[in-house]
Amino acid sequence: MPYLNITEVESAVTSLATAYPGLAELITLPEPSFEGRTAHALRIGAPAPIPKKCVMLIGGVHAREWGSCEVLVHFAADLLEAYRNGTGLGYGGSVFTADQVQHLLRRLDLVVYPLVNPDGRLYSQTVKSMWRKNRNPANAGGSPNPACIGVDLNRNYDFLFDFATAFDPHADPQVSADPCDEMVYCGPTAFSEPETRNVRWLLDQHPRTGWFVDVHSYAQDMLYNWGDDDNQSVDPDMNFRNHQFDGKRGLPGDLAYSEYIPKGDEDTARLLAEAFCQGVYGVRGVPYKPMTGFHLYPTSGTSDDYVYARHYTDPDRGKVLGFTVEWGNDAAHSPNPFHPPWAEMERIVLDVDAGLVQFCLAVT
Ligand SMILES: [Zn+2]
Repeated sequence: MPYLNITEVESAVTSLATAYPGLAELITLPEPSFEGRTAHALRIGAPAPIPKKCVMLIGGVHAREWGSCEVLVHFAADLLEAYRNGTGLGYGGSVFTADQVQHLLRRLDLVVYPLVNPDGRLYSQTVKSMWRKNRNPANAGGSPNPACIGVDLNRNYDFLFDFATAFDPHADPQVSADPCDEMVYCGPTAFSEPETRNVRWLLDQHPRTGWFVDVHSYAQDMLYNWGDDDNQSVDPDMNFRNHQFDGKRGLPGDLAYSEYIPKGDEDTARLLAEAFCQGVYGVRGVPYKPMTGFHLYPTSGTSDDYVYARHYTDPDRGKVLGFTVEWGNDAAHSPNPFHPPWAEMERIVLDVDAGLVQFCLAVT
């Protein structure tokens, strides 16, 4: 089976809702993409007498990272089938019992949104395979340069969006304010794009979300907060809201700035990232590394930091720990590690889905 095209991803999502009434519910995202496509997500969980905490998982954000959609479609399908049949789940050497599957869907709601950026995926699968952004032409300024189309959705969230002010001039955050940057253009304003507004809407609709996972490639990592600087747990005033530290963020290993995270949150985030990596490793021994986003490279405007930042910027909101999976590596998957040959991607799907099940079990 080759990679799913955008119609097939959507039909997989809607078919699961139809096949599992009472267990899976279809969510229609409110904002169509620039090219007019309406996206869907699934809410999965067994009926429960009290409201449950929620794990939200999104994918298909970066257009070329094709397998993220398959990771999430199979994750949803596997759990639904095992729950209804009363069976366990086996991914290579990572095995989950029927009791664990029942426990997971009785204790948690899962919101699974496999294809955030349908326009980008279509363009990547039919025109330019390395395409990463969405397909919004609004910021191109009439330029004929095809690179000037689109926004990097994972730089468009409201977290240190004004990176030129927030970061040290010598820092190198992987973000650009140039619309013709083909990779990491952040957009004119935070949440300028319908795709990121859909993710924000989904979070607003699910205030009991405690954990958020954005599935990307590639690096074989499980990233947790923060992504803008090193973590520190001693000075709560040294934080992303404090303008006193503008111009100081983003340098590794310095004393001028590190991002505050309470020790308990960092310990929990690390344990959950480790649980994910253990689940992956059990399948066939592929080592994924738990680390903060900053240790991959400094960023602003990413989903994982935005979701965790929300309870600081608005104390009425619940706390959401943010994670980013980076599946796959560049060694074995030439010519393109963002969409390896399907036979290898099938194995990666098993790796990552085992990691996600282990992650969800670890939060219950
Ligand atoms: Zn990505």
